[in-house]
Amino acid sequence: MSKRDYYEVLGVGKDADGKEIKKAYRRLAMKYHPDRNPDDSAAEEKFKEATEAYDVLSDDQKRAAYNQFGHAGVDTSAGGAGGFGGGASFSDIFGDVFGDIFGGGAAGGGRSRANRGSDLRYTLELDLEEAVRGTTVKIKIPTQVECHTCGGSGAEKGSKPETCGTCSGTGQVRMQQGFFSIQQTCPHCRGAGKIIRKPCKTCHGSGLEEEQKTLSVKVPAGVDTGDRIRLAGEGEPGQNGGPPGDLYVQVSVREHKIFVRDGRNLYCEVPISFVDAALGGELEVPTLDGRVKLKIPDETQTGRLFRLRGKGVTPVRGGTPGDLMCRVVVETPVNLTKKQKDLLRELQATMDGTADHAPKKESWFEGVKNFFDDMKF
Ligand SMILES: [Zn+2]
Ligand SMILES: [Zn+2]
Repeated sequence: MSKRDYYEVLGVGKDADGKEIKKAYRRLAMKYHPDRNPDDSAAEEKFKEATEAYDVLSDDQKRAAYNQFGHAGVDTSAGGAGGFGGGASFSDIFGDVFGDIFGGGAAGGGRSRANRGSDLRYTLELDLEEAVRGTTVKIKIPTQVECHTCGGSGAEKGSKPETCGTCSGTGQVRMQQGFFSIQQTCPHCRGAGKIIRKPCKTCHGSGLEEEQKTLSVKVPAGVDTGDRIRLAGEGEPGQNGGPPGDLYVQVSVREHKIFVRDGRNLYCEVPISFVDAALGGELEVPTLDGRVKLKIPDETQTGRLFRLRGKGVTPVRGGTPGDLMCRVVVETPVNLTKKQKDLLRELQATMDGTADHAPKKESWFEGVKNFFDDMKF
């Protein structure tokens, strides 16, 4: 059977440029594509014919050979000019022309879908001071980049992935189940749409390589454990031309020796002597900005909270700064000398037998006494 003239097949003039040829082929391919004409062998023939014509006319070398020698010039048997017929070149044309028609996950039974890369999460440990004031930190994260050896194709140098024959490169197959036709991931290529005959030795066919990348992360002032900083596009690369995912930097604030944070407020415990607690005095208490003086009134009980306004944290989302809450804890004296102990006993003797000096203690004992009195046996 003699072949039709390639220009005639595509319906273009002998002087048509690459753009015109591509356009003409696209039109025909859309019309006769097997996906759109299932079980139509005439359409399939037309599609193959157009694809063959495009293969030759879109390649300057092949086109020149064809112009000079006709079909014989590009016949695979005549000098191996790399004519049509191999699965590899078929898939090439396919990718070239259909990439922008069916790519990007568009409907219409196209090639494998463009998938957005996965998001990554990185836990960033910060000191309380860093979290409160803000900082810039450099982080190193492992990342999947396009394999340098194969450029991401996954195929060994000199070879190319082939379009999967089972799913025609779509990555999906239709299964009939009762009344329903169910779309499933192609079992042959596992959804990739491509078969790699000779996998790249560096990446073993994945097309990806692991690399450490250093990123500079600007941490705004006021962040707290659980806050996330999003670095757009710093996640894993997309597949089949899809966009990369994002990197989420998860803030985790380390425990502080002195302060406990609760939202915008800070808490700390300040030990005081029982003498200061009884007589009142001035304490030095720590804040994140340094020491400040805190006046303690007389008769201060343990556990009492003193509020230092504005010495807390300014929240990352704005607003007024919180407070620093100092909880005083009365400390029992230790390592007393005999003289000190005698003085305490002397003091004790002056206070015994009256509720004036220890109202809590007296009322507690009163409560216990009533409790036992009320128990009738
Ligand atoms: Zn590779
Ligand atoms: Zn497949």
